[in-house]
Amino acid sequence: MINAQLTTKLLLLLLLFSFTINAQGWCFSLTTNPSPEVEVTAVPVTAITIPVVVHNVYYNDAQRLTETQIQSQIAVLNEDFRSANADLDQVINWYQNKVADMEINFVLADQDPLGNPHSGIIFSPTSIDGIGNDFTNGRRNLCYDDLGGSSAWCTDCYLNIWVADLDFSGVAGVGIFPTEIASGEVPRAEDGVYIQYDRFGRGGTATAPYDLGRTCTHEIGHYLNLLHPWGNVSPPPNCNPSICCPDPVYDDLVDDTEKQTWTYAGLCPSGFQDSCPGNGGPDNYQNFMGFVEDACAIMFTQGQKDRVWDALQTYRPGLLNPDCIEQCVVGTKTPQQVDNLFKLIYSLHGELTLEALAPDLDWTLYNALGQEVSSWRSELAGGFTQQISGVVSGVHFLVVQKGILLQVRKVVL
Ligand SMILES: [Zn+2]
Repeated sequence: MINAQLTTKLLLLLLLFSFTINAQGWCFSLTTNPSPEVEVTAVPVTAITIPVVVHNVYYNDAQRLTETQIQSQIAVLNEDFRSANADLDQVINWYQNKVADMEINFVLADQDPLGNPHSGIIFSPTSIDGIGNDFTNGRRNLCYDDLGGSSAWCTDCYLNIWVADLDFSGVAGVGIFPTEIASGEVPRAEDGVYIQYDRFGRGGTATAPYDLGRTCTHEIGHYLNLLHPWGNVSPPPNCNPSICCPDPVYDDLVDDTEKQTWTYAGLCPSGFQDSCPGNGGPDNYQNFMGFVEDACAIMFTQGQKDRVWDALQTYRPGLLNPDCIEQCVVGTKTPQQVDNLFKLIYSLHGELTLEALAPDLDWTLYNALGQEVSSWRSELAGGFTQQISGVVSGVHFLVVQKGILLQVRKVVL
């Protein structure tokens, strides 16, 4: 680890010289400023696969899931987002021709941001009871290693799912809207979805009637910019349809889900249900974005798909980029300082003899004023000599990055 004095100097450099490290009831997801209705159909070129990392932050044994339980959730997502769920045949007539295959697959990441093989599952014990609703200086403890939680992997490239005790009364999950990240309302390090531990996965330890993995499907819907069918704010119970139905607040900004002011929370309706009569068609109470029991939430619509694909292109392009993880340099969380990326063998006559301790390192040399003097990339681990032409002798800082990791060393040239 670099010493405290150098850390202070580095922070000063960061501040003074714009030293950029590529700086870069049920559901609690609300956005103060939803993006408008999609005007143009955003058709996917091809189905995508989103790498997922699951952070199971557990306070006791009951909150620690098995890998099998976690894998069952991934299976549910791959059914629900590909309209491959077995219960899809239950969709009522009105909505049968509106069902959409979202063309999104999910896979547990097989490598971490450094390219090391990984299961995509992090089991992280915590001493904080109810960590999901704990904050330190505005930061959600759940999302940070140093606050007792588990830090995100590069949120531009991975879907981070935290499974823990959320400890909000009755809240099963939270999905962070892409607009909350874009506006800065939520730090990038907290981007993803949070799921109550006993509502995650199918069967096993999940508690009926929320044991079919639909909470996570729903929250990922928010993560991909979908609102509840009644919009961003729940209409008052038994609101007069002549008042609530025309109110534009109560709308999900999707055309083919009919206006709906009932939430059906915890219910499992059937047949023709219409909380806004005369407004087109029945409520899409079977939508994944509603509050019905798991067994009754079974579909997305084409209009929702358009909104999701528009959001992917507008707000989450990293998920469309197969090279995202390779390019994920620092970016989305505080860079983690380490001391095992490289060794300086010696510095002599404007050249540095170095040993890369890992492949694919990005090297940048700064002078004492924080100005970039030289930069290069090494692809392979091993020793090499780097010529630094035209350098003025004196104190420099060599900064080496790999993903979120950062090693800094003072070098006298
Ligand atoms: Zn929700």
